[in-house]
Amino acid sequence: MAKKFLCRVCKKEESEYLDCDRCWKFRVRAYEKYPVDSRGVRVEGFNSVEEFALYLREEYDKYNKCAYTRIEMMVEERGKKKRLEKQGKLDEKRKYSNQLKIMGFSVDRKNPDKPYERDNILLCLNIINLMKTTFKHDEFLQACHEVLKTEVEKQRTYADQVLGMVKSLYETHGQKPIIPIVEGARKVAGCPEQEEEDRANKKY
Ligand SMILES: [Zn+2]
Repeated sequence: MAKKFLCRVCKKEESEYLDCDRCWKFRVRAYEKYPVDSRGVRVEGFNSVEEFALYLREEYDKYNKCAYTRIEMMVEERGKKKRLEKQGKLDEKRKYSNQLKIMGFSVDRKNPDKPYERDNILLCLNIINLMKTTFKHDEFLQACHEVLKTEVEKQRTYADQVLGMVKSLYETHGQKPIIPIVEGARKVAGCPEQEEEDRANKKY
């Protein structure tokens, strides 16, 4: 029987590797960044790659959705690409790799002027992080806004879909209403008037 190791990240699971199947990819990501990433950004507040990897895994396990889009993120399965290659399923392997490039989890920083540290780390889709790399946060939001604006102008997305989105957001955030600041938009989005606003103001 193969020798078993206690996972150096979670220190709970045993496997024939130094990291268990669950922790493996998180350690790979942590290793790429620890103690300083390819762009010279430091990781701070962690004493080892493993401690950093465990934090990433825990953050992922808490909420495995992209912080910006809320789309579910993927974690690469250990050995899957090699297995597909061995089986001669090259198309499938390519598809899986491409899927990971887009949907795989990526480590981002809320404030790009600060290091990777507990309060500043968030996880998002790889593709979103790629977009963000060249944009500052407000530029990124502005770009998203311009995309949506162009879609509406070109009539590929319709204004009522956008208003419908605002309306459904309003409905799903009953505890902390998202209130349009413009009276006209408030009416179109179907937000209740004054009374609701007073209630919201009292709470927050
Ligand atoms: Zn583990």
